[in-house]
Amino acid sequence: MPDNKPYNSLSDHLKEKLGSKTVKLSVNAGFTCPNRDGKISTGGCIFCSGSGSGDFAPSAELSIAEQLRLSREKLSGKWPNAKYIAYFQAFTNTYAPIDELRKKYYEALNCEGISGIAIATRPDCIDDEILELLKEINSKTYLWVEFGLQTSDEDTAILINRGYKNEVYLSTMEKMKTAGIETVTHIILGLPYEDRQTMLNSVDFAVSAGTDGIKLQLLHIIRGTKLEALYNQKPFHIMSRDEYTDTVIECIEHLPPNVVIHRLTGDGNRNELIEPKWSMDKRGVLNEIHRKMKITNSFQGKLLK
Ligand code: SF4
Repeated sequence: MPDNKPYNSLSDHLKEKLGSKTVKLSVNAGFTCPNRDGKISTGGCIFCSGSGSGDFAPSAELSIAEQLRLSREKLSGKWPNAKYIAYFQAFTNTYAPIDELRKKYYEALNCEGISGIAIATRPDCIDDEILELLKEINSKTYLWVEFGLQTSDEDTAILINRGYKNEVYLSTMEKMKTAGIETVTHIILGLPYEDRQTMLNSVDFAVSAGTDGIKLQLLHIIRGTKLEALYNQKPFHIMSRDEYTDTVIECIEHLPPNVVIHRLTGDGNRNELIEPKWSMDKRGVLNEIHRKMKITNSFQGKLLK
């Protein structure tokens, strides 16, 4: 664990994989989501803001090449020798006709300085044709695909209107494994009425499905979402900063050392954040996790038998 973190961090993983400092650049390809456009539902996941988890992605009015050029320009002073990953972040990035997907992935891939592609999507949006395209992209560049599992508790999945069952995630993960494509699983900590054991079960579930990476994200209640309405009608427990950092550490201790940790907390749109307010101090939360891990001698995989 070269950058002295007691866990397998994304920055270390990318340094090892690509040989230098690597930065993700968010891309908004102008896709939508079947959980919003009526194919599955019109409501979306109850925590999802109108931006489809792409709060920091550029405007889809610009071409992908232009989005990447502008982002690179902004960062070139800070990291002149960095490599870049084009991160298809907003909404569901495998949900479009295959020709459009191919065109957009290649547009990113052909941009100067792009050394890899990351695609955020849903496990119910990978059919055989898309899988073939992903295999093709994987043969040309470094690729990983992210799935929003959020929880392995089927009751919570219904409550949050995730729109697919765990078995769909499992079968897609199996196909990705067979195809040799790296996967990342998103899990939200602090979902309504979940206790710590339920959250740990979700982490264990993703690990047993063979996920290569994990993103742990604190639940944010964003203004105007269905989650905000639920919270107002039937308030649920909001994790304190102390509870959150302890839970994250226990999750890390459950993770095998080879699983890459992409995120330990979340970025939200601070102007729209209802709760938890303490999460706005992202740097402080990360420092707290590192500090606690140090004093308790904690490390990734500590609780594995
Ligand atoms: S799948 Fe993603 S984009 Fe679609 S509603 Fe859920 S969080 Fe939003």
